[in-house]
Amino acid sequence: METPDRLAIHTMTTKPWDLPTAVAKYAAAGVRGVGLWRQWLDGRPLAESRSLLDDHGLKAVSLVRGGFFPGLTATERQAALDDNRRALDEAAAVGAPQVVLVCGAKPELSLAENRKQITDGIAACIDHAASVGVKLAIEPLHPMYADCRSAVNTIGQCNDMIDQLGDEWVGIAADVYHIWWDPELELQIRRAAARIIGFHVCDWLTPTSDFLNDRGLMGEGCIDIKGIRAMVEQTGFNGWIEVEIFSTRHWAGDQDGFLHNIINAYKQHV
Ligand code: ZN
Repeated sequence: METPDRLAIHTMTTKPWDLPTAVAKYAAAGVRGVGLWRQWLDGRPLAESRSLLDDHGLKAVSLVRGGFFPGLTATERQAALDDNRRALDEAAAVGAPQVVLVCGAKPELSLAENRKQITDGIAACIDHAASVGVKLAIEPLHPMYADCRSAVNTIGQCNDMIDQLGDEWVGIAADVYHIWWDPELELQIRRAAARIIGFHVCDWLTPTSDFLNDRGLMGEGCIDIKGIRAMVEQTGFNGWIEVEIFSTRHWAGDQDGFLHNIINAYKQHV
């Protein structure tokens, strides 16, 4: 079975596998790119994780995740900045060109205040991003997460923020799960153009039984993944296509079979 060469898989997608297992399985299946979640780096020196990837011919395409900038106190906000700078360092150490930002939100704060703190937080990390040569990829999240995960919910908002922040070290990670419903999607993707530096795929299930961990495999749901991919590629994007599926149902099954299904679904539905 030939494996598409732009396919990358997030370690969270095959959550039951630790990093040594995941890299061995991905490599054996012909997958070349990995979206590295930071938990998978725990427990060994960064250089060792890097070697694990290198030894299997794998490339870290993104480090997931930074963000969570809003805080109720200055101490909390400072801790977030420190953590984001650490994430940038980790990304540089494992060779990942970008840190994906789940920007955060506090339900105690207004949306306007959350968004201001996010923009300020990203601005405060740009120098560090430049110094280590790693980009910050803002991932807008579906508005159902606007209370406590991200007050940045559309590509349009990302564009407005990047108009302020500059696009040398700040880009956008477009995840079909979060953006498929947006009536301005095509317009804002066109406006974003080369700002789109990450593209994540999975599917939206009907019904969705768990708002955190019930994403579908591509083709199981209602998202026009090929249509969105075409919009993104019209901007010139030709980077990795990252499969990012959080699914209690799929995690409970045989992961070897799931990996096989991911590759098939990618070929058919992406
Ligand atoms: Zn994503």
